[in-house]
Amino acid sequence: MPAPATGEPGTLALALRRALGLTLLERGWLSANQAVFHAAGGTPATVVDTGFSSHADQTMELVDHALAGEPLGRIVNTHLHSDHCGGNAALQRRGGLETWIPARSVAAVRQWDEDRLSYRLTDQPCPRFVTDHALVPGERIVLGEAAWEIHAAPGHDMDAVMLFEPQTRTLIAGDALWEERLAIIFPELEGKDGFGPTRATLSLIERLSPRTVLPGHGRLFDDVGRALAASRERVAAFERAPERHAQHAARALLMFHLLEVREGGFDELVDWMCRTPIYRTVASRAGMDEARAAAWASMHLRRLVDDGALVEHDGRVAVRPQAQ
Ligand SMILES: [Zn+2]
Repeated sequence: MPAPATGEPGTLALALRRALGLTLLERGWLSANQAVFHAAGGTPATVVDTGFSSHADQTMELVDHALAGEPLGRIVNTHLHSDHCGGNAALQRRGGLETWIPARSVAAVRQWDEDRLSYRLTDQPCPRFVTDHALVPGERIVLGEAAWEIHAAPGHDMDAVMLFEPQTRTLIAGDALWEERLAIIFPELEGKDGFGPTRATLSLIERLSPRTVLPGHGRLFDDVGRALAASRERVAAFERAPERHAQHAARALLMFHLLEVREGGFDELVDWMCRTPIYRTVASRAGMDEARAAAWASMHLRRLVDDGALVEHDGRVAVRPQAQ
């Protein structure tokens, strides 16, 4: 079943709008989804996650449209990857809003530590923004008319949080659970334990037993058992063969970079991989010297072209026109 286009909500989306004053803006892979809440009582209109920086104008238009003239008063971020908070700076420039981020990320944002915030590691741009409040696991935050529980969601990002509304059992999962795929488990790429925390977060989601999940990417879904089983299978497969996870990550990060830049010379892209810290880390952990790392990078790019994920013409590689 195809995902309903933004503006033509399906049954699940309508139920959420009625029960929680929540609109999901489904984006692509470069920009994460937004959950938009109308103001209620003393609670300001809120957007959860703000997409990638190059999409900031589009994000603002979509949010304004969803709020139908109500001023946005608050940004909440599930985590601070560049595709989830890249619109924060542009929205903050308009003034009149507060920004809530996961408690574990507050110090890094105050110092704008690009190493801790992953932007240097992945060579993904994210304009500097400020923060006013921390999302503390165990506490609650009111979004619309309902109080949402804040839960730690380590794994993909060790600092991430999820938001859970217990009456309707709705989960804003960020990148902790997707319907079909599994997000990169970043700590593992640097030799830290990420599989264990990922498994623990999946178990927490199972205990919360959500009826509906709003993922960071992709449509909202209600077959949560199936998504959990698929994610667990993938984690187990990666734990058995961690080099497969590194390969999956290499491809996913390369695809993300191409979604950002749209196209580049084949050699230029291989060079980009060879100088980007996350690839250097993965290659050196696998014991590759520079020549082997370059061959490895080139092999991944070639494979994405051969698989049809990217197109090549005259030594230049591009994303397919409809990719976002
Ligand atoms: Zn993420």
